[in-house]
Amino acid sequence: MARNFRDKYQQENGISQESDEPRPHPGVIVGGEAGREKRREYAIVFGSKIFGSIAAVWWMFTYDTGWVEWSAFIAGYIILMLGIVLGFHRYFSHKSFETSKPMQYILGAMAQMSIQSSVLRWATDHRRHHAHADEIGDVHSPWLDGRGRKTSRLKGMFHSHFGWFMDDCVTDTSIYGKGLADNDVVLWLHKTRWYWLVFSLIIFPGIWGLAFGGWDHVVSTILIGGYFRTFVVLQITLGISSYAHVVGSQRHTKGVGTARNSFIFSLLTFGEGWHNNHHKHPRASFQGMAWWEIDIAGYVLLLLEKMGLVWNVTRQPKYIKSESGEWILANRKIAPKRAEAEA
Ligand SMILES: [Zn+2]
Ligand SMILES: [Zn+2]
Repeated sequence: MARNFRDKYQQENGISQESDEPRPHPGVIVGGEAGREKRREYAIVFGSKIFGSIAAVWWMFTYDTGWVEWSAFIAGYIILMLGIVLGFHRYFSHKSFETSKPMQYILGAMAQMSIQSSVLRWATDHRRHHAHADEIGDVHSPWLDGRGRKTSRLKGMFHSHFGWFMDDCVTDTSIYGKGLADNDVVLWLHKTRWYWLVFSLIIFPGIWGLAFGGWDHVVSTILIGGYFRTFVVLQITLGISSYAHVVGSQRHTKGVGTARNSFIFSLLTFGEGWHNNHHKHPRASFQGMAWWEIDIAGYVLLLLEKMGLVWNVTRQPKYIKSESGEWILANRKIAPKRAEAEA
């Protein structure tokens, strides 16, 4: 599917099939100052996470660590993952529910504590991923590089997991930023993103270590409950771009790119591992389609809805298995019966 789209696109734009030249992308700025700025920012952000995590692993094998450090790790993991799933993804990228300004600040701040750039960058990149899933123009496909060239499985996995941070392709906010670039909450969060980095990596875990363990636990909690926790959350989130487009099952095969469903990934990402379901219905607030498809963030959303903190929560369409074993929309089965009754 990806190949057909790319070939058609190249043909229409007079680009040689074998050319290695940078190709124009719809909604992508290639190179220039925007590309350099992206590389500089991600080099600082991810460089600090990597060095901090190496120090954390060294600390774990050199000194004793205990419940103070690891409770900070777990609490941070929950805050960051819920922020990413409900903030970055289901609210700001897909607007799958509505909420108040204070809740937008809270979800956005929790998301930015993951230090995966700002709401503005994350959500515009993600919208582009959906618009061109596994086709030329995708931000992070394991099947193509940043410029839409076919790539080997190994290089593709690297590109979709980590490499896309360091390419010089930037999502054009004027095309993918509807409802974001003109939202003061999003712009404030974007401007203050460096403060959230310091808060997440140092201040929050530092205060946790001081409050529950005393001065002796401040450095160790910053390393394990700050740097290492953020690095682990990043790897698991990135697995949705790489792993979840290569390994797993496919309930839907049309209009989903190569997205897959994975039970284990869904547990780790609080529901985001039902990625095949999600590509089929990106605006739905819930990604699990069957009772056993656990979607922790979806259950949290139900609770927030009951508390009146979110509303207009978009439901997942109901699917059933047809007699031939295919998953079909429940109302498709009803429609012919109704037609018969009305005839
Ligand atoms: Zn995807
Ligand atoms: Zn999405």
